Order: sequence, then C-alpha cells, then structure tokens
Amino acid sequence: MNKNDFLYLDSQVESYWRGLILFGQNSASYKFAFAKSLLELKPESGKALKLYEIAPNYSKHLIEHLKNSPKQTTSKSSTFISALVQNGIESINQNQVLEETVKRGFVNVVDAFQNIGQTKIPIDFYHYDKRNKQVVMTDEFSKLLQSNQLENLYSEVESRWNLVEHAWSLGITTNVIAVTHDVDENLLFTFDQKIGRRKNITSSRGALNGYQKGFCFYCSAKMNVEDGNETHVDHFIPFKLKKILGETVNGVWNLVLSCKSCNSVSNKGSRLPVQKFLIELNKRNEYLISSHHPLKETLIIQTGDSQQKRKEFLNDIYTKAEPFSGIPWQPKEIRFEKI
Ligand SMILES: [Zn+2]
Repeated sequence: MNKNDFLYLDSQVESYWRGLILFGQNSASYKFAFAKSLLELKPESGKALKLYEIAPNYSKHLIEHLKNSPKQTTSKSSTFISALVQNGIESINQNQVLEETVKRGFVNVVDAFQNIGQTKIPIDFYHYDKRNKQVVMTDEFSKLLQSNQLENLYSEVESRWNLVEHAWSLGITTNVIAVTHDVDENLLFTFDQKIGRRKNITSSRGALNGYQKGFCFYCSAKMNVEDGNETHVDHFIPFKLKKILGETVNGVWNLVLSCKSCNSVSNKGSRLPVQKFLIELNKRNEYLISSHHPLKETLIIQTGDSQQKRKEFLNDIYTKAEPFSGIPWQPKEIRFEKI
C-alpha cells in the first residue's frame, strides 16, 4: 500500500488527517504541536481561531518536547526553535514565549499543514486567513471532532512525534534505530550508546496504530487504543517461541494490535494465526516501510532489504513456527470489513 492508496481508499476525514500526520513534511516538529493544539482546542465549524489563542497550547507542547529531545528540526535555520533553545527554556517568560510564538512560530506551519509533499489534500480542515492571523474552521474539522477515533488520533500524533524526534536525534539516514519491545511495559525502546542505557521512545500501542486505525488486526473489532486492557500488543509469531526462534520474535515486524478477546487464551493465545494473516502482516510491514515511518530502517534490518526478501523471511519463520504451535487459529467472525 502506498501513500496514495492509504489516502484515497476511503475519503474519510480521519484518513486525510492521518495522512497529514504520517506523510506530511517532516523538517520540524511544529506540525505535531499544531495538530495536538487543534485537537485539544476543538474549535467548531465556522470558528475563527486566532493564532494567539492557539499559541499557549502550541508552545507548551514544543517546550515539553524540547526538554526531552533538543533536536526538533532538521533545519539549521529554524529561528523560532533556536530562540526557545538559546533563551534557556526554563527561564523564558511566558509572555515572551507567546509573543514569539505568534510572531514566528507558525511560519510555514499553518499554510503547509494541509499539504502532503507539495500537494494540498482534497479537503480543508480550516482556511488560513493570514491577514487576520487566524484559521477559520470547516465542517470537515467538526466531523473529525465527532469521530469515534478522536482519542486515538490524539495519541497517534504524540507517538509519531516521539518516533520522528528520536529518529532525528540518532540521524536516521546514517544510524539504525534498533527498536525493541518491552513486553511488560508495552513500550518501544532503543539502547542509547551515548548515555549507556535504554531510552523509551513511545508506547508500542500508539506506534502500531497508525496502520490499524483503531481496529483489531485479526477480527477488525473497534478498539480504544489508549486503553491497555482493551488493546493488546500481540506477538504474531507467539512470544513463547522466542526460546526456539530467538530474539527476533520480539521485533517490531512481529507486533500487531489485537483486541482483548482475540488475544485471550481461549482464542489466539500462544497459537499461530492462519496463513491469510501472514499476508496481512506482510502488507502492514510494507506499508510502514513505504510510508517512511521512523521504524522503516528497523523493519528493513530485521526482515530484509527487498520486498522479496521480506516476504521470504516471513514465510520462513512461519514455517519454522508451525510445528510448535498446534492448529493455526482464526477468529470466529470478522466484525467489520477493514478498509
Ligand atoms: Zn479481535
């Protein structure tokens, strides 16, 4: 699935929004701060939202992220970020921050937010009224606010932001992010050589949900991804086979989000899913790779540097797992057709 398929398979407002978060330009993290602010402020259709009304949320998110991860842009000339860093984040007076934010913080953000690459998406979440320093919200944004996916959308922005800034801090083009999953905490982490310890990058649930869009990988039931009791991180090839197949079982390539019911002992438990889900898993991994997800490099390292190799890798490990997994499992019913 490439990004166009992703966007145009359905014309749901959620898909366009997710497209912006996943594929929009990634030269700085402003768009994440902007997206989070809009989802928090929940402006209704027709509302003219002034930039100074967005500034408190927007700057708060940027400052929070700057504290943990000073690299928030790939551009050396980002004056707004440099101003925040140079002044010492802690010591900046709140009024100065807001003033600076309104003056420079939204440049190339509000006008570019609704683009993917150079192309504007076909719908508008707002119209930008530059002269009056405001955005005027549309019906589409109201539809997004009414979406039953709203909570997931919010946590996806945060997950994506964490992954992107971590990729930047490591320099994704020259370094490999070796991401591992913490089974108990449901976190993805890397081992940071510089500080000599592991660094959590994001919740596994949030990072995996961009593809699944809040649906169970197996039965397509709708899940609240915020709720760890309801949404499980499942090892497609059962975790218990780590003893036989090795550490690779804990790789991101093997993790999917499953509803509580599918992951229960009476259902999938530690069984292998039927072969058709292996095809789905392959599609998911190819999607993350083609969408330039920050986990792209990790997936390539774990499963192969060509589509053919990755397919063979999955088939091979599935074949190795079969003798130890009993009769392959499948859910009794598919509750919704996935898009
Ligand atoms: Zn399920």
